[in-house]
This record gives sequence, C-alpha cells and structure tokens, in this order.
Amino acid sequence: MAGEPQSDCLFCKIVAGEIPATVVRETDRTLAFRDISPKAPTHILVIPKVHYPNAAELAAAEPEIAGELLAEAGEVAADEKIVESGYRLIFNTGAGAGQTIFHAHVHVLGGRPMNENMV
Ligand code: C5P
Repeated sequence: MAGEPQSDCLFCKIVAGEIPATVVRETDRTLAFRDISPKAPTHILVIPKVHYPNAAELAAAEPEIAGELLAEAGEVAADEKIVESGYRLIFNTGAGAGQTIFHAHVHVLGGRPMNENMV
C-alpha cells in the first residue's frame, strides 16, 4: 500500500532503527539525520517516515507531510545556524538526476559558500 515501509529500502530501515543514523531532529512524521557522506559542513537529510519513492509522489499523496518536510528543513537550518549565510535544499528525483535512495528526502546543505554549482 502507498506509504507502507519497504523491506528493501535503506531509509525505511533507518526509520525502523535497523540501520544507525546520526539523528538531529525527529517529529511524529519526519526524521532528520546527518548524511553519511557530507558534501558541505552541514549536510543533513530530512525524510518522511512514510515511504514514497520521491518528493513529488510524497507531495501528491501526502501534501501535509511534504509541507512538514520543508518546515523541518528550515528548522534544521536554524539549528545549524546557516540561515543567515544561506543554505540549499535539493531533491534529486530520478537516477538521471543522481537519486540513489528511492525514499523521498531533501538534502539541507550549508556552512560554505553555496553560490557556485555543486553536487
Ligand atoms: O539524493 P540521493 O538519493 O543521491 O541521496 C542519498 C543520500 O543518502 C546520499 O547523499 C548518501 O550519502 C546518503 N546516505 C546516508 N546514509 C546511508 C546511505 C546513504 O546518509 N546509510
């Protein structure tokens, strides 16, 4: 069923506590943890606890959770003190765009100049 945990999904396993992650924020419906391979001094992923393959499908099916994901990304940026210097939110969607984990997530990147091309 849509949104149900997938047994082959790494982020579902992080949500279930089966794979460790450095969690920085959690709500009933979202989880934020440090990217295992950071591309910037702050590199945090915010994910919904429900499983959708990408952010667009999450937004279509569960718009409130998609909104919460964005709000949490903003809270992460505030916690990390990168609001003033600026930060970047990235939703890679599809393998051709570099998506490797097919569970919706937003990258929160900051802590260095973000005005150049990246990723
Ligand atoms: O957008 P994309 O699907 O490429 O992002 C997946 C991200 O998940 C990567 O930046 C990768 O470093 C991260 N990751 C992680 N912890 C894992 C596996 C992957 O933070 N155990």
